[in-house]
Amino acid sequence: MENILENFACNVFNDSVMKQRLSKNAYDAIQNAKIKGEPLSAERADEIAEVIKNWAIEKGATHYCHWFQPMTEVTAEKHDAFLSKTKDNKIIIEFSGKELIKGEPDASSLPSGGLRATFEARGYTAWDVSSPIFLKTNGTVTSLYIPCAFFSQNGDVLDKKTPLLRSMDALNKEALKLLRAIGDTQTERVFANLGAEQEYFLIPRDLANKRLDLKLCGRTLFGELAAKGQEMNDHYFGTINKRVATFMQSVNMELWKLGVSAKTFHNEVAPAQFELAPLYDTVNIATDQNQLIMEVLRRTARDQDFKCLLHEKPFEGINGSGKHNNYSLCTDKGENLLSPGKDPKNNLKFLLFICAFIKGVDTYQGLLRSSAATAGNDHRLGGHEAPPGIISIFLGEDIYNALYYHTEKEINLSQKSKQINLTSSVHNVNKDISDRNRTSPLAFTGNKFEFRMVGSQQSTSAPNFILNTILAEMFSQFAEKLEKSKDVNKTIIEIINTTLKENGRILFNGDNYSKEWKAEAKKRGLLNLKTTPDALKYLADNKSGELFEKHGVLSPREQHARYEIYMNRYANAVIMEGIVFEKMLSREIIPAAFDYSSKLSMNINQITKAGCNVPKSSVCKVNKITSNIDDLELMCKELANTIVSAKKNGDPEKRAIYVKNNLIPLLDKTRGYCDNLETLLGKEAWPIPSYTELLFSL
Ligand code: ADP
Ligand code: MG
Repeated sequence: MENILENFACNVFNDSVMKQRLSKNAYDAIQNAKIKGEPLSAERADEIAEVIKNWAIEKGATHYCHWFQPMTEVTAEKHDAFLSKTKDNKIIIEFSGKELIKGEPDASSLPSGGLRATFEARGYTAWDVSSPIFLKTNGTVTSLYIPCAFFSQNGDVLDKKTPLLRSMDALNKEALKLLRAIGDTQTERVFANLGAEQEYFLIPRDLANKRLDLKLCGRTLFGELAAKGQEMNDHYFGTINKRVATFMQSVNMELWKLGVSAKTFHNEVAPAQFELAPLYDTVNIATDQNQLIMEVLRRTARDQDFKCLLHEKPFEGINGSGKHNNYSLCTDKGENLLSPGKDPKNNLKFLLFICAFIKGVDTYQGLLRSSAATAGNDHRLGGHEAPPGIISIFLGEDIYNALYYHTEKEINLSQKSKQINLTSSVHNVNKDISDRNRTSPLAFTGNKFEFRMVGSQQSTSAPNFILNTILAEMFSQFAEKLEKSKDVNKTIIEIINTTLKENGRILFNGDNYSKEWKAEAKKRGLLNLKTTPDALKYLADNKSGELFEKHGVLSPREQHARYEIYMNRYANAVIMEGIVFEKMLSREIIPAAFDYSSKLSMNINQITKAGCNVPKSSVCKVNKITSNIDDLELMCKELANTIVSAKKNGDPEKRAIYVKNNLIPLLDKTRGYCDNLETLLGKEAWPIPSYTELLFSL
């Protein structure tokens, strides 16, 4: 344990290292930049850069890089050595303030949604002082990583970090306004915290590499289901396989060095599925850290002969992976604004913040849903392990009743026992204020909301900048009412009543996986957005545009660029799956099936020649296989044609919709034929690893 503490964040230029190494003035300058947004002077920046460089070099670094989050789901970096030339051509070790603060990586091939025409392709990175600088070693190179924003020559935002930072400012500003309106004069800052639970699969690398679909798409495009799935519930929370435990500890140690407080690990529901959860942090830092978590998982897996699958649905028939986004609101005084306290019904401040959630989520259902819309997540949302495409909020009986206590609705406030008493040898435990609802997309879990729609491989930026912005808007609306009020408590009760009347339809405490809920949600007029193109429309509409513009989170140009990028990304992901499927069929599956059927036919011939009875079923099987081959050949042609037509479609929106309507159903149909063929071929004849081998070989 001592070792953990000694090594924890040893590679991070964090607050305590800054205090130790920087002059008081330099330290204060960074704090002012962080809190008040005051720019650093050139001299101060040089002084800070010098200290950081010396620290980095002492720890073995030779390079620095501006680390940023472009509009892909991964991070980007370009490394520069701490080298420079003097006027008289001598090589020296140098790292200037300018190099620390600003970079021009070009990076013109990263998606910009039309915000950067390549002939004027300047792209810049700038240091985000709110997230700590760190060192990372890759093979034999150690580099200094400077978390950065990424934007174009004319100031258009090209990354995932900036809107999140802007939304934090908006949230802080409007939350403070609301707090002031209800008499809080003390709080100086409000921020959102995020704890992102990360689910993933681990597969033996040699097996994964034998499948082109896993290699290129991160998921299996077909495969006969294994005889065993997750029905025995013996993997979930089970004893951890020794190789996997070793892997997890390597991941933990790597993350601890990077200052990421990896806390929990366990087996997840599906075979070969696992989870890692860190301690929560402010949303921007937690988002940076989640990127590091995904990267360390992938890299450690490679080092230890695993393949880590972060895709939302690597295998049909068993659970996919999500990223449960635990979100809360806190003040600089350490208060959790979503904490109900001992008597929630009389905690009007808490109920007011809950109402902001209810109204915000109901008003912007489509926008929030769009924040989890990706081609991968479409396979997961609505499956039997993940919430459907319908957004609703679970509050739990106690909080639900606490709200309705202030209305005319009759509620049952029966006093339930506060303790659970099982038997004499088991310690009594206190009951939590709310139960859990694992089926809800947005569940209140005691003092935070768990947004469970988020996909496992996506950045946590969008879900959180959208939550922040929606809440900022609600705080602003409530503050306006309360600022004019002569009786604050009475106005809060009015807000509770109006919110429940107008937005109460979003509350649902039942089973979100049930058919009945789909019908009920429709009656309530809630949106059910099943696919990415359907959901993304709400990112691009005027209502969202006005919201983003009002709170300074995205300009209309930036909003539409994002829509275009995401539509493109969706179409490209599905088109790639189509190409991979066609290749696997024509180069591996069909030839193998043909060989197998020829071999069977030859065997049948020999049995006939020997004068023996040929089993009728064998002849029948050969015919089934050959007819299946014909079907698949046809599918290959159809796939190829559909891909050509999809690619011809230049407009991102039209292309995405074409792909959704034509290519997705075709992939499903092809899969049906292919899975059938797998059941007809002998085990040795199937040319790629089966579900059984992939999921049960550890
Ligand atoms: P479970 O799987 O039971 O939901 P985990 O322990 O796997 O719980 O994950 C819970 C996550 O929620 C952790 O990342 C934890 O740090 C985070 N969390 C706990 N309290 C808060 C809070 N107040 N705000 C944000 N996240 C929180
Ligand atoms: Mg968990």
